[in-house]
Amino acid sequence: MTFQPIFEPPRPILIAGPCSAETEDQVLATANALKNTGVSLFRAGIWKPRTRPGAFEGVGTPGLKWLRRVKEETGLAVTTEVANAQHVQECLEHGIDVLWIGARTTVNPFSVQEIADALAGVDIPILVKNPINPDYKLWVGALERLHQAGLRRVAAVHRGFSSYGDFKYRNAPRWQMAIDLMQEFPDLEVICDISHICGRRDILTETAQKAYDLNFDGLMVEVHPNPNQAWSDAAQQLTPDAFQDMLRQIVRRAISTDDPDFLARMENCRSVIDEIDEEIISLIARRMLLVREIGAIKKDKNVAVLQPERFRALREALLRRGEKNELSPEFIALFLEAVHQESINQQEQIINARNEAVSRER
Ligand code: PEP
Ligand code: MN
Repeated sequence: MTFQPIFEPPRPILIAGPCSAETEDQVLATANALKNTGVSLFRAGIWKPRTRPGAFEGVGTPGLKWLRRVKEETGLAVTTEVANAQHVQECLEHGIDVLWIGARTTVNPFSVQEIADALAGVDIPILVKNPINPDYKLWVGALERLHQAGLRRVAAVHRGFSSYGDFKYRNAPRWQMAIDLMQEFPDLEVICDISHICGRRDILTETAQKAYDLNFDGLMVEVHPNPNQAWSDAAQQLTPDAFQDMLRQIVRRAISTDDPDFLARMENCRSVIDEIDEEIISLIARRMLLVREIGAIKKDKNVAVLQPERFRALREALLRRGEKNELSPEFIALFLEAVHQESINQQEQIINARNEAVSRER
């Protein structure tokens, strides 16, 4: 699959605007405050997918006219979220410049296909947020459906992934998954939606810096004239001033350099990292040997493979150790889940092998 750029140079691309269009004044005030800040695309949700009914579900069609006024008055291009063919149709009728598919839609291939079908033969740029759950193929699948419909000006937006429990992020980033996407599709623009990753204002700047350091093509940021009064996502939106402050604080660093001192230091660190990774794998393999031994003991005593108490204690101990060593609870949870799943698989193999041996003997 090859893609064409949506955005002209320079980088980074900045997409900003309120979570939701609320009133015509709020939309225009935000756009006017953003027009000379380097923003190249103004965002505002018109139809809002909300977790529970009764929350503000967007102003709907009248908001499209407000976005058209934004274009006329500020010259900013505008984008909004589409979740079905009807939304697509209305956006096309109202001259919306760029569409975006939200996380709750990317997750559903029927919906993505419906949007792709509605766009067949139409040349309009479209942004595809990652699905709610960390499924790389589902994200790529959505890009493929649009590509098959003939769309080439397609970009991806990393907005983090839903996880169960209270963690630092509202939607935990999976940086490696975004990097995989950049590597698999080098001409695909990949944007980082820091607002939906963070869910709170105080960690936006550090997350934006992280996105720059990982060489994302740009940022999507929710900006509202009066964030605390916002009708959706109040905790994560920035005032236009705070948005500009953030931009002043973050730096775009060069991807690489020929400086020999830099190269030597990188090389040193990388070779140590390689050694450490090898050690980690050997340690995990040693751990698995013991796990298999426990599997055999459990089998002899006829005890279940899964021991919930033991898992809970292990999890707590590792979370504490993680905290002491500045490892995030999200990482510890993922790590433990992977190791534990592999342990259960290995024990089951042992038990199955023994069962087979026993039935052969009989
Ligand atoms: C949004 O951008 O306001 C939104 C609803 O995003 P997501 O689909 O990432 O939750
Ligand atoms: Mn939002």
